[in-house]
Amino acid sequence: MEVTFKVYRKDPEKDGKPGRSNYTVEVPDGATVLEALLKIRDEMDSSLAFRCSCLRGHCGDCMVRVNGSSRLTCTAKVSAYTQKGPEISLDPLRNVPVIKDLVFDWDAFMWNKIRATKPWLDASETAADGESIIPDAPLQDLRKVMSCYNCGMCDEGCSVLPVDFDFLGPAALTKAYRFVFDPKEKDHKERMKVLEGPKGVWDCVHCYEADEHCPRGIEPTKRIIAIRDEAFRAGITNEKVARHHQSFAASVKESGWLDEGRLAVESEGLTNISGLMKLLPTAAKAMVRGKAPIPYMHSKRPGAEQIKRIFEKGEAEKK
Ligand code: SF4
Repeated sequence: MEVTFKVYRKDPEKDGKPGRSNYTVEVPDGATVLEALLKIRDEMDSSLAFRCSCLRGHCGDCMVRVNGSSRLTCTAKVSAYTQKGPEISLDPLRNVPVIKDLVFDWDAFMWNKIRATKPWLDASETAADGESIIPDAPLQDLRKVMSCYNCGMCDEGCSVLPVDFDFLGPAALTKAYRFVFDPKEKDHKERMKVLEGPKGVWDCVHCYEADEHCPRGIEPTKRIIAIRDEAFRAGITNEKVARHHQSFAASVKESGWLDEGRLAVESEGLTNISGLMKLLPTAAKAMVRGKAPIPYMHSKRPGAEQIKRIFEKGEAEKK
């Protein structure tokens, strides 16, 4: 099969202007996009820069956007992208500084954020007899999280990062979960303060895109929600968090779904002018991407009255 790859090019050592190179190559049936890239580099253009490492979908190093969607090129079959024609576009990730061609800055994308969450164990003292026996049950769940590849696919799918690149993101917060819930952790309060601070767990909008993108089924959104619950249990909450919860519940109760614009405004506080002003750059970016809902303009969803009754029943039971 002959396929034309339209590859994003940028070389800061030359003029640094982004462009595109087209390469038409013969690829065998069942070939992966990475195999095609290696062929292009070996036979046609040795200056083409891209990353790869494990070649079996375990490390995430080869992630690029294939026809606009983030994929690991070592597991993406060429044939899956040629249904509409023998052309495939390859681009680096969105919103991440490009170093050269398809090679982007992993530090800015993910590693700096993981470092910020203190990704190591602050273990409690070993028992006097030198033995610390950890029950297996809590570790079963942690083992699942520890199977994370650090591939960053969840960050690439995240809805918040395109409008606020400083958000810690699902990959870093999933790594943090592993230490927050480790039974050997001595005191997770300091760790939790970072996680529940600005750009932390409360900025997640639970769109579940991270879960859709994760190749390991780790459910990063579930991990973020668990850290939030743990913050409440540990009494590490602030006024903004309380407002966030109240606004979230009020929005769903009134319209049947979440008014994200209202949530942002009410979480800051309606009288907090400087806080509201800080939202403007993010709102502007979201607007450019068609993602900025106008606060308080949400129409009710079908069945909203039923949802309201569920809330009222719950409130009556609490009294
Ligand atoms: S949680 Fe899943 S998608 Fe995110 S880095 Fe780990 S393996 Fe990749």
